[in-house]
Amino acid sequence: MENTIERTDTAELLARIEARDRLTFEEWKAVEDTASTEELGRLADKMRSGLHPDDVVTYVVDRNVNYSNVCVSVCTFCAFYRKPGSPEGYVHSYEEIFGKVEEMIDLGGSGVLMQGGLHPDLPLDYYTGLLRELKTRYKIHLHCFSPPELDHLAKITGLGVEGLLRELRAAGLDSIPGGGGEILVDEIRRKRRTHCNTEEWLNV
Ligand code: SF4
Repeated sequence: MENTIERTDTAELLARIEARDRLTFEEWKAVEDTASTEELGRLADKMRSGLHPDDVVTYVVDRNVNYSNVCVSVCTFCAFYRKPGSPEGYVHSYEEIFGKVEEMIDLGGSGVLMQGGLHPDLPLDYYTGLLRELKTRYKIHLHCFSPPELDHLAKITGLGVEGLLRELRAAGLDSIPGGGGEILVDEIRRKRRTHCNTEEWLNV
């Protein structure tokens, strides 16, 4: 649809966002097309300070570690995965991961976000042993494994999601990222050839 909303309407739309009014798709599109980055930044900051008036903003310094790019899924948008057996596939050794974590700690970091592909047969011991080592050696926050990885691992280990999470938690897992949930509509997920469907993702 052609964008017929004039620039003069942008201020009104921004005021409605600030008032937490619900915008239509076309109105959001108009905001995206006409509002400047500075205007959106100012509005975001205003809303943030409304929610958190103590004027404290926190952030985490961490590092993304991709322990393996081997994956049995073939998501159409993904340039990261390599099929099992590919000469470009890798699984990092613990030592390689320790090196990356130590670089992160040297830069003042306090945790890792660790994710990988859906490896067909990497044993549970690899994951639990790694978590244990990382927690014992470095005492960092372990934010690891997206729902599609966990769903896959729950199936290949036969533990089910709850049983798997108990094992990982006992090994040192602190929290999990929300990767792979960008579009929770199965029609789209099937087109993208994503392994984990909406119900499975939400189940995790
Ligand atoms: S599951 Fe993850 S790594 Fe595997 S193809 Fe999809 S996005 Fe890539």
